[in-house]
This record gives sequence, structure tokens and C-alpha cells, in this order.
Amino acid sequence: MSEDDKRPQAVCLACGGDGQVPDPKLAVLGGVPRTALTLRPCRWCDGEGRRPLRPPV
Ligand SMILES: [Zn+2]
Repeated sequence: MSEDDKRPQAVCLACGGDGQVPDPKLAVLGGVPRTALTLRPCRWCDGEGRRPLRPPV
């Protein structure tokens, strides 16, 4: 066990720890407009789902 493994990390609040966020897009299928949900990597945590805690300065 090294100290590096114990770096404090916080679950990314932007994606809830999934590392992906839903990205709704309007798609027209068969002439019917629908909302298609796609997933894209969370830009806050780069898809990690966690972000390192930075000590307050
Ligand atoms: Zn995130």
C-alpha cells in the first residue's frame, strides 16, 4: 500500500461518477421527431467519473 493509492478523490458531480453524461439530440426517425439520448464522455472528469480533491489553498 503506497500513499499514492490513497489520494483523495471525489466523485464527479457533473456525471455522478459514470464518466459519461447524457447528450440528448433531436432526431427525426420516419418523419417523427424524437429525442435520442446519446452518451458522451464527461468533460469535467475526462470520463474518469472521479476528480482529484484539491486541498483548499
Ligand atoms: Zn464527470
